[in-house]
Amino acid sequence: MENKFHFYNTLTRTDETVQPREEGRIGMYTCGPTVYHFAHIGNLRTYIMEDVLEKSLRYLGYDVKRVMNITDVGHLSSDADTGEDKMLKGAKREHKSVMEIAQFYTDAFFDDCHKLNIRRPDIVEPATACIAEFIHMIEVLLEKGYAYPAGGNIYFDTSRLSDYFVFSSAVEKEQLQVGVREDVEEDANKKNKNDFVLWFTKSKFEDQALKWESPWGTGYPGWHIECSCIGMKHLGEYMDIHCGGVDNIFPHHTNEIAQSEAYLGHPWCRYWFHVNHLNDQSGKMSKSKGDFLTVSLLEKKGYLPLAYRMFCLQSHYRKPLVFSYENLDNMEQAYEKLVRKIASLKEEGELDEEAFLGYKTSFTEALCNDLNTSMAITVVYDVVKADINDKTKLALLEDFDRILSLDLTTAGRKLEDANDFADAELKQWADEKVAERAAAKKAKDFARADAIRDELLARGIQIKDTREGVQIEFIR
Ligand code: AMP
Ligand code: ZN
Repeated sequence: MENKFHFYNTLTRTDETVQPREEGRIGMYTCGPTVYHFAHIGNLRTYIMEDVLEKSLRYLGYDVKRVMNITDVGHLSSDADTGEDKMLKGAKREHKSVMEIAQFYTDAFFDDCHKLNIRRPDIVEPATACIAEFIHMIEVLLEKGYAYPAGGNIYFDTSRLSDYFVFSSAVEKEQLQVGVREDVEEDANKKNKNDFVLWFTKSKFEDQALKWESPWGTGYPGWHIECSCIGMKHLGEYMDIHCGGVDNIFPHHTNEIAQSEAYLGHPWCRYWFHVNHLNDQSGKMSKSKGDFLTVSLLEKKGYLPLAYRMFCLQSHYRKPLVFSYENLDNMEQAYEKLVRKIASLKEEGELDEEAFLGYKTSFTEALCNDLNTSMAITVVYDVVKADINDKTKLALLEDFDRILSLDLTTAGRKLEDANDFADAELKQWADEKVAERAAAKKAKDFARADAIRDELLARGIQIKDTREGVQIEFIR
């Protein structure tokens, strides 16, 4: 690999050059959505940036295998094993079965991803499809003495590890004490505060919908076990890159590492990539707050989903990003202007190979430098403005779009077609109204004729009666 891709590894807290275990191949794992509700645009910020990471690695020539789980069981209202099961909460809210809810919101998630040009991971596996693997891992952890039964549940014993808090300086100290968080009640079965549930047979909520037989009784898995098992099922004993949002660092990723390395007896995943949060004016956007923004809502308000993708790409993934409609409006205008400008380029001239290579190098360097997407977009603008022929510009923009996925060379044409269509429709409607007005005047219904004139004006169309007939003028 000629280009050295480096990014911030949360585990070592340093910027590191990626060196996969197997030359040229990367095993990448992504914590998937909990499918009890729509994904909000904050969740999707994480998936957009992970998509850029995956595509950058492919662009550099790596053979990437990416795996994602779908959390359709086990994720309780607090990340620390207490509270109501999230899936059940969704099912009750909508008077549907848990599996119906899971299917509906899984499909909705991938619809949103599609609108945002997020590639579907090579493997997508729901947790409920891997129960046997979970049970096997828990059995091994019990055999090795890393787990214990208590009160009907099986817990992971964090005191067996010399360094449980592997991410300790990446998160605030207070966050690491499970019992201290206000939304978390302590579980008296736990030997240590940070122990976590691997298998539940006793939940406070007796009506848990999905349950399976296990050596420890009928029950269901804890949340963390799914990512360790699904990751190993498809990527083997070693994983190169594991991703998620920063809220996953603790306890979820900490627990994933604890149980995976205890099970395997060796280090598991080398690089940890975390995306910072999207916040709104009132703080972190979260599904449990109930009131959150979705891609469909943005579309209903008339926004292009790709303007939101560009909004995310314009800021660095490790910084918190504040959402406001004003910022999105500005981004949408910039996006439309950019793609319309690109649409005016003609496939003319010979490819200027030197210029092509020069800009491609700047673009690649930006991404190799801890995924500096805003710098990569600056290179896009540089290309559009450059004193090089259109053919070379278009070739570069198509090449960059393999990663940026903003439909750079096709969106402008679509916008213009949509405009042309809207204009043609409006013209046809105006002609019909003018004919209706003529008929009203003929019938001496002047009130109706005036009302039609106002209706036309309201849509930006002025009419003038001339000797040659009615003239139509579009005034905006
Ligand atoms: P969930 O569906 O809640 O399991 O979350 C799916 C993904 O979105 C996880 O990787 C979370 O870390 C991430 N996430 C949750 N809230 C936000 C947010 N406000 N901004 C960015 N990512 C988030
Ligand atoms: Zn996970």
